[in-house]
Amino acid sequence: MNKVVIVSGGSRGIGQAIVDNLLDSNCIVATFSRSESEYIKRQKESDPEQNRFFWQPIDIRDSETVKRFVFEVFKKYKRIDGLVNNTGINLDQLLSVTTDEEIDTILSINLKSVFLLTRVVSRLMLQQNDGAILNISSIIGSRGFKGTSIYAATKAALVGFTKSLARELGSKNIRVNAILPGFIETDMTSGITGPRKDQIIRRTPLGRLGKVDDLTGVIHFLLSDEAKFITGQSLAVDGGLTC
Ligand code: NAP
Repeated sequence: MNKVVIVSGGSRGIGQAIVDNLLDSNCIVATFSRSESEYIKRQKESDPEQNRFFWQPIDIRDSETVKRFVFEVFKKYKRIDGLVNNTGINLDQLLSVTTDEEIDTILSINLKSVFLLTRVVSRLMLQQNDGAILNISSIIGSRGFKGTSIYAATKAALVGFTKSLARELGSKNIRVNAILPGFIETDMTSGITGPRKDQIIRRTPLGRLGKVDDLTGVIHFLLSDEAKFITGQSLAVDGGLTC
């Protein structure tokens, strides 16, 4: 595909799979996360000159550092064709026992930081008259799931963000889409076990939880020129759970 793509939170889980898929298709990938996973170590070692892979340790809430990261990527690779807003945390607990601090943390990581990162990247895309932005929402934002009300609210908000931003940026050939994954096997969902997991599988027409590589093909497509007339859309990738 030969594009320069920023993926937030590419150190493990869905983000790691996205980074891997884009590297496999000849993209240049820049990513950040708070900690350096084994995967990141391996990628850095295999590309010490940072010709196609660039990573920095950044907490997405540190907006000044995020901004510097984006400018460094732009300076290094001369353009930014794609942005995948993948970073996100879950808060699996009832609203009644949730603290103010926990609410602030999830709103800051799942929403405010996404807005700020997207703002700085989209300004550069506006100069290029080209770009594709992909937001990772969740079916929990459209369907709800007990114990995830605040997480669900942040993920529903990303759908509204996607649609409005698509209208703002469309005339400059910048596309904005979202995917809504179902339950995908990563660290985030490792706590879903036993009867809770069995129930999800029973309700999923395809009869299983998702794997990270169930998402990468559709993400690749939405970032690519194959999807050049698709914007403002939110696509569930959930094995049919919400059909
Ligand atoms: P994950 O395994 O927990 O990975 C999250 C990634 O984001 C890691 O690379 C993590 O690295 C990074 N990250 C988290 N907080 C960060 C912060 N403050 N600053 C910078 N990086 C941060 O999660 P996942 O399951 O792959 O989920 C990825 C996205 O898909 C999330 O937005 C999630 O809401 C969404 N999603 C997941 C599922 C699912 O079933 N797994 C379903 C629907 C939607 P560090 O911890 O090192 O910072």
